[in-house]
Amino acid sequence: MDFDVVVIGGGVAGVAAALRASELGKRVAIVERDEMGGECINRACIPSKTLIDAVKVVNKARSSPWIQSAARLDYPKLNEYKTIIIKSIKERMEANLNSKGVKIVKGQAKVRTSGEVEVGGNVITTDSLVLATGSVPLSLPDFPLNGKNVLDPWTAMNLRELPEEIVIVGGGVAGVELATLFRALGKEVTILELMPQLLPGFDKDIASATKKRMEEKGIRIYLNAKSKIVSSEGKVRFLVNLPNSSEEVVGDMAVITIGRKASTEYVNLRDISVETDPRGYIKVDENARTSNPRVFAAGDVAGIPLSATKAWRQGVVAGDNLGGRASKMPRFIPTSIFADLEIGVVGRTLDDAKKLGLDAREIIVPMKVIPRAWTTNETEGFLKLVVANDKIEGAHMIGEGATEVVNTVSMAMELGVSIQQLYAVTFAHPTVSEIVGEAVQRLTHGELY
Ligand SMILES: Cc1cc2nc3c(=O)[nH]c(=O)nc-3n(C[C@H](O)[C@H](O)[C@H](O)COP(=O)(O)OP(=O)(O)OC[C@H]3O[C@@H](n4cnc5c(N)ncnc54)[C@H](O)[C@@H]3O)c2cc1C
Repeated sequence: MDFDVVVIGGGVAGVAAALRASELGKRVAIVERDEMGGECINRACIPSKTLIDAVKVVNKARSSPWIQSAARLDYPKLNEYKTIIIKSIKERMEANLNSKGVKIVKGQAKVRTSGEVEVGGNVITTDSLVLATGSVPLSLPDFPLNGKNVLDPWTAMNLRELPEEIVIVGGGVAGVELATLFRALGKEVTILELMPQLLPGFDKDIASATKKRMEEKGIRIYLNAKSKIVSSEGKVRFLVNLPNSSEEVVGDMAVITIGRKASTEYVNLRDISVETDPRGYIKVDENARTSNPRVFAAGDVAGIPLSATKAWRQGVVAGDNLGGRASKMPRFIPTSIFADLEIGVVGRTLDDAKKLGLDAREIIVPMKVIPRAWTTNETEGFLKLVVANDKIEGAHMIGEGATEVVNTVSMAMELGVSIQQLYAVTFAHPTVSEIVGEAVQRLTHGELY
């Protein structure tokens, strides 16, 4: 046997699995056909946040009543910086794999059996496999990607120059973040969302606060919009059917953010008896095990949530279990959305909690009562906690700092800390995290701020 473990896919899920399995004494190889780091490092989380963070700083400086500046973005320089950090993260990742003795194999892996993987004509034999092949954007008949003016998010984000009018199909996390970026760069942006709310599946108040803020920034948002591209010659023309009317929406470019599918082309799932769900994602248990005891799966290929946050963790869990250390997926996986006002979410909405039969209630603390919100001059937003049986079941926050604060609440939830126990915790002043302390204060006694 050449290896104990062969990991297919060098995205965050695969790298985490490879590192953990090798730390635990396994002989590991990781096969990647493209760039190490996968979507997150090369094309998604890292590049998009680098761009969004930069344009937000510029716009904040420009709109501040007391900062005298003519702040201007040097887009080529920013892109240079983006390329540098992607390269340096990847180099660190590869160095870490090398130092742990993981063999990096470049090329497309084809699974022959659960113990044999073919790469570039060579067959590698292994005891166990980790499938971490990620996901790819869906090209749907109503929105056919053409590589010119109907694009996936990554291609759109990497154009040297953006056109003036951009239509984004899909108002989920990626749609909201891209709209934030493009609008902050001064483009005319329209979002077409099929569902009745922006950010479908998220807390309704978070969704409507996000919509309000984005509209204030000049983004046009259509909800309940059943749309399709009718022409992409020159301009992209959409027919948009709304509940009581239909409209034509026209843009120079369309960005399609409505769906992805598991990338399982070369992994021969049927022959190795690995089951998938009806959408084609690999079915895994809480230990990242598939229906074949020799095969694990982690990350996007193993289904929702399609996030690097989940992918890392599932990779770690797969690696742990392969290395003989029992570990399972956390109950709560936080989500951070880098919109014009940041969003952080973990756990259940009130409706979800009630559907589960929990005697749940919610408490909302507005950002405007938190001193730090005043010092940063960003007082919009709120934290909503969903609470049942003295435990937090969900946290839904919109406001600057929400992408960090959510991790604190997530930790309390994962560890099963009660509200009474949280009352003993203090938060540094003045910080946005004080909003958690204030929520707990209000749940136990009454408001301080
Ligand atoms: C615009 C955008 C922004 C995002 N921002 C965030 C964010 O801020 N936070 C967050 O948590 N998530 C974010 N995501 C989601 C995140 O990027 C993905 O969930 C994450 O990258 C999935 O990691 P993965 O390792 O499962 O798959 P991938 O990153 O897709 O890696 C899979 C790898 O497998 C390789 N591969 C596939 N098949 C084979 C084969 N047969 N042989 C060899 N190699 C193979 C691929 O080349 C690829 O490198 C974002 C997504 C998008 C589109």
